[in-house]
Amino acid sequence: MIEVHDLHKSFGDLEVLRGIDLEVGAGEVVCVIGPSGSGKSTLLRCVNLLEQPTSGKVVVDGVELTDPECDIDAVRRRIGMVFQQFNLFPHLSVLANVMIAQRKVLRRSAAEAEKIARANLERVGLADKIGAYPAQLSGGQQQRVAIARALAMGPAVMLFDEPTSALDPELVGDVLAVMRSLALDGMTMMVVTHEMSFAREVADRVVFMDGGVIVEEGPAAEVIGAPASERARTFLSRVL
Ligand code: ADP
Ligand code: MG
Repeated sequence: MIEVHDLHKSFGDLEVLRGIDLEVGAGEVVCVIGPSGSGKSTLLRCVNLLEQPTSGKVVVDGVELTDPECDIDAVRRRIGMVFQQFNLFPHLSVLANVMIAQRKVLRRSAAEAEKIARANLERVGLADKIGAYPAQLSGGQQQRVAIARALAMGPAVMLFDEPTSALDPELVGDVLAVMRSLALDGMTMMVVTHEMSFAREVADRVVFMDGGVIVEEGPAAEVIGAPASERARTFLSRVL
């Protein structure tokens, strides 16, 4: 579902991604871990072309995003992204937040967009909050709205960039539970996270990045439980 071939990304003189090769199969959940500054966010952002790769190839759901002929907007609609900051519209209700891109980007009718919004808000456990405004919700609830908003677009894959890092500890569990249920439903997911217990439990594969390269990848039990590289061991000894 996601193929990344020899991906390089530089910002000026700074080479942030130095040759990434990665495949994520349909229904697979891949967690990306690694120290701050290792290029995890840049990798995710290159997968939906929020950043333009310097070189290399990115293919999502059979479409090569790095092909200059590619209709990026069409592909991007197929890729849901959830960030650390929820980026909800503060002046719109929860329901309206989940409807707006469906209306404007997918041109769905109000009735259809509302039906799909309600179904996805129910899926993330917020059916009772549709009339609320973001400021009236906890961070965990806001993040679940952001997940519902992404799901409402009918994505083929979901990318998560540290979705629980901005949350108070007691709110993390509800968001991870929603992500766990998505994984069980067969969603293809790439998740940058520091939640090692989530990675151990949910990830089919864990990728450890450092210095713009993939240093190790494999089953969570191996990469987190018994890392082969010194760099991964050092990182894990700090976060576990
Ligand atoms: P991570 O998510 O693993 O913490 P990032 O992908 O955010 O790492 O960043 C990797 C490196 O790229 C960092 O040194 C960061 O400062 C740099 N970087 C990221 N985005 C930009 C940008 N838009 N312009 C310049 N440098 C950037
Ligand atoms: Mg990051």
